[in-house]
Amino acid sequence: MKREDALFDASFIDEDQINRILAKTRRESVSSAPAPLLAIIDRAREAQGLSLEDAAKLLFCEDEAVLGELFRAANAIKQKIYGRRMVFFAPLYLSSFCVNNCLYCGYRRDNKFERHRLTMDEIKAEIRALERMGHKRLALECGEDPRECDLDYLEEAISTIYGVREGNGRIRRVNVNIAATDVENYRRLKKAQIGTYILFQETYHRETYRKMHPSGPKRDYDYHTTAHHRAMSAGIDDVGLGVLFGLYDYHFEALALLRHAQALEESFGVGPHTLSVPRLRPAEGVDLQTFPHLVADRDLKKIVAVLRLAVPYTGLIISTREEPALRDELFSLGISQLSAGSSTDVGGYASASGNGALRSSAPPQFHLSDRRPPDEVIADLCRKDFLPSFCTACYRQGRTGDHFMPLAKDGSIQNMCQPNAILTFKEYLLDYASPEVRSLGEKTITQHLALIPSARTRVETESRLERLTQGERDLYF
Ligand code: SAM
Ligand code: SF4
Repeated sequence: MKREDALFDASFIDEDQINRILAKTRRESVSSAPAPLLAIIDRAREAQGLSLEDAAKLLFCEDEAVLGELFRAANAIKQKIYGRRMVFFAPLYLSSFCVNNCLYCGYRRDNKFERHRLTMDEIKAEIRALERMGHKRLALECGEDPRECDLDYLEEAISTIYGVREGNGRIRRVNVNIAATDVENYRRLKKAQIGTYILFQETYHRETYRKMHPSGPKRDYDYHTTAHHRAMSAGIDDVGLGVLFGLYDYHFEALALLRHAQALEESFGVGPHTLSVPRLRPAEGVDLQTFPHLVADRDLKKIVAVLRLAVPYTGLIISTREEPALRDELFSLGISQLSAGSSTDVGGYASASGNGALRSSAPPQFHLSDRRPPDEVIADLCRKDFLPSFCTACYRQGRTGDHFMPLAKDGSIQNMCQPNAILTFKEYLLDYASPEVRSLGEKTITQHLALIPSARTRVETESRLERLTQGERDLYF
């Protein structure tokens, strides 16, 4: 398909093709021996990805021994490409106005509650609260409402966010998760210096999509599914895809997600920057009992591991929708980015810290499972030998889209990501950590300094760590 055609026509998601692969794999999986599956896993260790057919075979696997091998391979690929770094972000809800009626969402139009859009002063209060937690990277979230939350408002919000300083804190990367829009608006978002443009497909299955979106502009499957193509053609290098797992059969959704990533790569020479794997959560007026495709923990682990093998260089994101114990397991299966300390309330950060003027009784978009503050999540990661990172350097250095891939593939990115993770974590320890986390974190830094491949970069990192201690900030490679 030509690149221009894919700007509005989502036929690159070919349901018949996906269903054929699934039907064939399902038939064969009944009698499948472990050996061919183990061979697929073995080949995937080379970090060359997976075909849709091989991904399907692994998604149908129920053999515990093979799954154990799949999980080990996912962990090995993650270590090879990302080391033990875990990048932090927080969502920021700007507005609960929404003209859509998505059946799974607490913000849908038919839910009656008092809606709110943050004023610029309220945004500043939210940002100060987020900066006091140590966050440097945000994902902006809002309902779709062309009147209440238009692009002029978003541009002003982004510029306000980049302008707020709280102590040494500053938001350095604003990712944006907003409704599908046109090429002109994506150009404006690019100009506003967004990091990643994120949009979840919710479900790739047309019939389910139609049922889940009874009214509103989001009902248009083709327009929604081609949004990332338009964003990339407008010059946004980094885009994020995702499925809301629980709306339809996860085997279909995971394959379609991979097919979407392939289609972007075919059109632009580079696939998505990130994939998200949100699972359906309870929300106001949403009864989970009425959703027949809810995904079990074990299947979510399988999905994450298969995605890690299939797209080794794509970031994988897990949110606080998941319980701490499961998040811990997923970190070792390929997750590279996580949110922490999140609020899905408009105005939730400032009011939780006691500094907000907003005292809303409005429901959140959905309910969260991991409510631990970032400091606690960080302590936990350090104890498990992970390296927390607040790095935003790639996008500020222009290492995005197809500029990023060659560096990732030849491994030279390790001489940037590892030191940048260490330097941003050091800033966190100096400015935000409790005494206990500071002493834990210093040990983590010593341990991870030794893993910087180039001796010269290691020495330079040590010197920059000292400059941070002396009061400088924002030093990166
Ligand atoms: N309104 C825009 C949209 O729908 O694309 C922006 C993003 S919306 C604020 C963020 C995401 O939350 C949605 O894409 C959807 O996948 C997710 N979401 C909605 N309801 C949810 C629920 N009950 N449980 C988990 N995630 C949910
Ligand atoms: Fe609105 Fe997004 Fe919720 Fe749908 S998922 S109702 S578009 S906020």
